[in-house]
Amino acid sequence: MVESAPVGTLSPQEIVDRLSALYGPPEWRPHGDVMTELVLTILSQNTSDANSGRAFMRLKARFPDWESLMAADPAEIEEAIRVGGLSQIKAGRIKALLAQVLERAGSLDLDFLRRLGPTEVRAWLEGLPGVGPKTAACVMLFALGMPALPVDTHVHRVALRLGLVPPRTPPARAQALLEAWVPPELHYAFHVLLIRHGRRLCRAQRPLCSQCPLLDSCPYGRSTMPA
Ligand code: SF4
Repeated sequence: MVESAPVGTLSPQEIVDRLSALYGPPEWRPHGDVMTELVLTILSQNTSDANSGRAFMRLKARFPDWESLMAADPAEIEEAIRVGGLSQIKAGRIKALLAQVLERAGSLDLDFLRRLGPTEVRAWLEGLPGVGPKTAACVMLFALGMPALPVDTHVHRVALRLGLVPPRTPPARAQALLEAWVPPELHYAFHVLLIRHGRRLCRAQRPLCSQCPLLDSCPYGRSTMPA
């Protein structure tokens, strides 16, 4: 892995500075709750943030602690998270996740991860059922305050258009390349700002390139401008 800076692009700091000027500088405040981040990630699959948030609130109202959730009948979990869609599948995934955490950690308290290094934490998390590189990176970044750069659909699209990763690079590979290129202290801001940019200007359909502060260094954007 590189890895080196992509040719002809802005530096990570310049990207963060220009997007921060547009969207505001993101503040990194890890919340410290690994299990919450893992469960939220399952609930967020194939639905909107609003729906997964509602499903999580209902789940926590019904099962205030992880032990009661662990002991619950899958049908009860399914009922609690129905608002988030795919509730039967997600209930099964949550039960499987809790069972694996209990088996591997000996409890549902994952605080011990704070005492491990990022490489060990990533490997431990990716050993859980249904936890891939993006989920592990989300847990590290948002819960544990460790450097990691999750590549979701927005980060992936913007990185490809800017030429930060080679054409057709799949998300997991793009994550590894970007994590190597972006300094760890910028991972959070870079991730959050590329998502904001992907939602507001660098949209999947008809991106608003003429308003984009990165246009001068964006091969995709420049190719869409009149000669
Ligand atoms: S110039 Fe267009 S394609 Fe490039 S980053 Fe900006 S909005 Fe996206």
